[in-house]
Amino acid sequence: MLNAIGAIALALARHFKTGGVIVNEHVLDSEQTRRHVEVFGRWFDFIHLDELPERLRHRGKRPFCLLTFDDGKRSNATVVAPELEKLGVPAVFFIVSSSIGCQTPLWFDRYKALRKKLTTAPPDLELHILKQLPYDVLVERIERACTRYGVEADLDDENVALMSWEQVRSLHQRGFSIGAHGFTHAILPRETKLEALENIEKSIAKVREEIASPCSGFAFPNGNYTAELAQHAIRCGVKMVMTTEPTWANESFPLWRLPRLQFFGADSPGKIKLKTAVAASGLILNNPDGTGKTYRGVNRLARRRDNRNPIARETASLPAKSRSQIEA
Ligand SMILES: [Zn+2]
Repeated sequence: MLNAIGAIALALARHFKTGGVIVNEHVLDSEQTRRHVEVFGRWFDFIHLDELPERLRHRGKRPFCLLTFDDGKRSNATVVAPELEKLGVPAVFFIVSSSIGCQTPLWFDRYKALRKKLTTAPPDLELHILKQLPYDVLVERIERACTRYGVEADLDDENVALMSWEQVRSLHQRGFSIGAHGFTHAILPRETKLEALENIEKSIAKVREEIASPCSGFAFPNGNYTAELAQHAIRCGVKMVMTTEPTWANESFPLWRLPRLQFFGADSPGKIKLKTAVAASGLILNNPDGTGKTYRGVNRLARRRDNRNPIARETASLPAKSRSQIEA
């Protein structure tokens, strides 16, 4: 059923809609990479970041799909990029500039390690509370909890470890796009204005310096943004700024506020199609920078469908991680 609904909606979108989808991923294994490419490849033309402004304005034979990967995890370089090269699919990797080559895990991976050890989160470690905090306070709170509970994220895990600058430069030289995703992974509207502006400027400048080329894109950590911060990123030299507003991308969006649809490795083809079809229909899903209510709505819809449907069963059995966003 989900496959059928998604397929019909996407077939209509292919004929009648301009624009396309900008996909937001974090980490995928080889099989997941192939599966996501296979599902999107049936309906969309994969494009390079540089083609995006033109494809937003002018219709191609099919809608476009731009793949983006946030956070700069090492597995993006060792697993995802080689698989995409085999498939001839371009992508953008948005990296956290100060974390590249760094031996400190990103805060949300330390948080995941804490949650794995603690069956319930202490009140001051609730994710929705942490995401309201200025970055210094958030990091200090996580640090204190890691020390107290003897927990640390596993840097031997390539989904936790960050790329090196050599890996970033290699991706760039092989034709992938490198974008900035903050100097730290601070949720920028929680910072003072001056700190947020500096963070954006330093993150873009560092990418430009390391790849010795312009940095064309900026993606807001956790998706939280303001128009002022987004336009500052443009003034700092990028051409395109990405949010996590989960909807179809077309010329109605300015280049400083481009929407992205978020997917996870465990998403089934049926779920990928359904979510994309909802976006293509013009409905806006809830932004994952907040409660993620509508994402849970998509899962509920999937479960309500015929329980005999193997895709509904597959979607309903997704691990909790894919239903409540931690990656940001
Ligand atoms: Zn992120």
